Amino acid sequence: MRGTVPNSRREFLKELAFGGLAALSPLPHASEEWRRKKGGMWYRRLGRTGLFISEISLGGSPLPDWSLFREIIERGVNYIDTSSSYSNGNSERQIGRLLKEAGRDKAYVCTKFHLRGRWNESAILRSVEGSLLRLGTDRVDVLAVHGASRPEDVADERVAAAFARLKKEGKCLFTGLSCHSNHESVVRAAVDCGRYDVIQLGYNVFDIEEPSREVETYDDYLGASRTRDLIRQAAGRDIGIIAMKTLKVGGRRQNLERYRTGDVSLFQSMLKWALEEKAVSSVVTEMLNRREMEEDLAMAGAPLTAEERTNLFRHVAENGRDYCRFCGRCQAGCPSGIATTEILRYLAYCESYGKAAAARQYYSALDPAMTAPACRDCGRCESLCRFGVRVRAGIRKAHQVLSG
Ligand code: SF4
Ligand code: SF4
Repeated sequence: MRGTVPNSRREFLKELAFGGLAALSPLPHASEEWRRKKGGMWYRRLGRTGLFISEISLGGSPLPDWSLFREIIERGVNYIDTSSSYSNGNSERQIGRLLKEAGRDKAYVCTKFHLRGRWNESAILRSVEGSLLRLGTDRVDVLAVHGASRPEDVADERVAAAFARLKKEGKCLFTGLSCHSNHESVVRAAVDCGRYDVIQLGYNVFDIEEPSREVETYDDYLGASRTRDLIRQAAGRDIGIIAMKTLKVGGRRQNLERYRTGDVSLFQSMLKWALEEKAVSSVVTEMLNRREMEEDLAMAGAPLTAEERTNLFRHVAENGRDYCRFCGRCQAGCPSGIATTEILRYLAYCESYGKAAAARQYYSALDPAMTAPACRDCGRCESLCRFGVRVRAGIRKAHQVLSG
C-alpha cells in the first residue's frame, strides 16, 4: 500500500508546498513480523489489521498547533487518534488539512462515533459521514465506537449493521472501540463477539487490582493486573491493542520529579512500561508542546531499566490509594443508578488534564437523575471500591465544579 510517489503534477506541487513532509518515507507494509524500525521510529503490527503503526501515536484531543503537528508526522508518527467530538470537530478538520496537504497516505486515522441518547444505525451513519467530510477523505483506516461502557452496546446488532455497511461501502477499513470504564466486561464482550479489529483502552502503571495485598516487588503488582490479562486475551485473538491514559490521570501536570531516574522522567518510564507489553501495538499520547514531543518520541524502542522500574514501583506504592481506575464497579453497584465512574472521569479531565470545557460539556450530557443530587448516601460505592476512592466526595465536588 501507500507509495509516496506523486501520480500527478498537481500532487507533486502539493507535496512541494508542504515542505519537509514531501521527504517522508513510505508507511511500513503489513507482514507477519510484529515490530520493525524505520528511521528513528519503531513500528508494531496492529493485530489482524496488518497495519504497522508507530509505537508512539498522536492523540487528537486536542491536537498540537499546526507546525508541531506537521513535525510529529515528519518524525515518523503514523497513527492519529481522533473523534467526531474532539474540539467540536476541529480535531478532524485539522487532520483533514494534514491529509490534504501531505497526502492521504501519510498517516493512518482512527476516528470514533458515540452511542448516546437515542442512537441507532442511521445516527451512526450520519456521524461517520460528518467525520469523513471534516477529514476530507472517503475512508478512515479504523472506525471505532467511542467510550463503550456497556457490553451489550459493543455486541449490539445495530452497531454490527452500521459497521458492515460502512465497510462494504469502503468508508472504513477496520473496526474498533475505545473503552474508558468497565473494561473487563466491555473488552470481553468485544473479544467474544469477534467483530472488532482494534481495542483502545486505558493501560498504565496503576493497573493493579489489589493494592492492599502485601507485595515485595513491582512484578508482584504487575502479576495482579487484570487489564494486562485482558490485553493478552484480546491480542491472542489477533485484535490490535492501543494503550491510552498511560501517563495516568494527572499526567504531566503533576510534579513528579522525585521519581525521575537520571535523564528519564517518570512519564517517560510510564511510556516504556506500557510498551514493554508486546501485545500493545502503540501508546497514544497528547504532545502539545515541543518538550512533550521530544519526551515521548525518545521513548520508542527504549528499554525500561531496573532503576526506572523501582521508581515506578515507588510512585504506585505511594500514590495508589484514592486513585480512581475507572473500573466501573461502583457505578454497576449503585442502587440509585448514579453514574459515579463517568462523573469521576469528567472530574479528572477537569482537574488533572485541564480540560474544563470538555468536562462540563460531558457532564451536562448526563441525565440529572444520575448525578450527585440523586445520591442517597448509602456508601455502597465506597465499599465496592478496592482502591479506597472517596466516591461520594468526588461526585459532589464534580457537581459543584461541572454543573451550571
Ligand atoms: S471509584 Fe473505585 S470502584 Fe469506582 S470506578 Fe473508580 S476505581 Fe472503580
Ligand atoms: S452513596 Fe450515592 S453514589 Fe454511592 S452507591 Fe450510594 S447512592 Fe450510589
